Amino acid sequence: MAYRKSLLSQARRIEIVEAEMPAEIPPGQARLRLGTASICGTDMHYFRHFANAGFELDYPTTLGHEACAYVVDANGAALADGALVAINPIIECGKCDRCATGDINMCATKQFPGSATTKPHIDGFFREYFDFPIHNLHVVDPATNPDHLTFTEPLACAMHCVRRAGITADSSVLITGCGPMGLLAVVGAAALGAEVHVTDLKQGAIEVAQSVGATKGFLIGTNGPAVPANTYDVVIEASGSPHAYNQALEAVRKQGVVAVLSLIQPSPVPINLHLVALKEITTIGSILYTDDFSAALDLIQSGTVDFDRLIGGRFSVSQTQSACEFMAGGEAIGKVLIKP
Ligand SMILES: [Zn+2]
Ligand SMILES: [Zn+2]
Repeated sequence: MAYRKSLLSQARRIEIVEAEMPAEIPPGQARLRLGTASICGTDMHYFRHFANAGFELDYPTTLGHEACAYVVDANGAALADGALVAINPIIECGKCDRCATGDINMCATKQFPGSATTKPHIDGFFREYFDFPIHNLHVVDPATNPDHLTFTEPLACAMHCVRRAGITADSSVLITGCGPMGLLAVVGAAALGAEVHVTDLKQGAIEVAQSVGATKGFLIGTNGPAVPANTYDVVIEASGSPHAYNQALEAVRKQGVVAVLSLIQPSPVPINLHLVALKEITTIGSILYTDDFSAALDLIQSGTVDFDRLIGGRFSVSQTQSACEFMAGGEAIGKVLIKP
């Protein structure tokens, strides 16, 4: 079976190749046709540098770990032909001490598609067809919009952070940065009933945040109202900027929580860590998700969130290079989607 796939062959270069699916589907896996995939910040690091967080790709690899798909061949499993499935991309070992506690995001030997941390690399989802473990597929109502269903993985990451930060209906929350992760953190915090404010450099991104649950936005770098100091119960840093992290330490109330959802890269900008001691700030990190995947799936299927507001563009697999360039240009607000 011939199909089209995108391959990142070097930094900023994605080739479209005609490939052949293996004749045999690996045991325990099903054959799937892409519904919708979406580009993550991690994919952008690989696109820009052929590496992410110090992990370099060894050879050309298909990016993409956020997707939903249709079952083409269930390979003996109880999955209907054509069933729409959300895909949990974490393939945990199931045997280590972290897997035993359900913390699959901490599994030292987990495999993850489109990532240099998995050796040999597993091709990701920016392609028309792929095989993936049946264990990782979640069948949903076929009426679910695949362009919304692809949000399950990134929404799970955001909801994991919201949960770790201890946000409740009574919390006042500031989210620094309205990129896709910041916007999804707004969705997750607002779903719990928290009061959510945001910051961003773009008025358009703030408006999108307000359309999905934020009640106030601060436009950074202008003469507009300043972010209040010592105010918020929880600040979620979602921009990746060390300046925003310093802002988070200022804006959080005494004995509040600063949660880091972004990957702040090494930088010469000094971090004002004295505030952590002086204000007794609890700082927490958050990466990927555990059983938040099901919670994200439930929230998407509830139909209460207008995910159309969070879609920044749609491209085909053949246009993956353009999709990544568009995302790298920084003008996109929301998620950039890849369709077959
Ligand atoms: Zn992601
Ligand atoms: Zn494990």
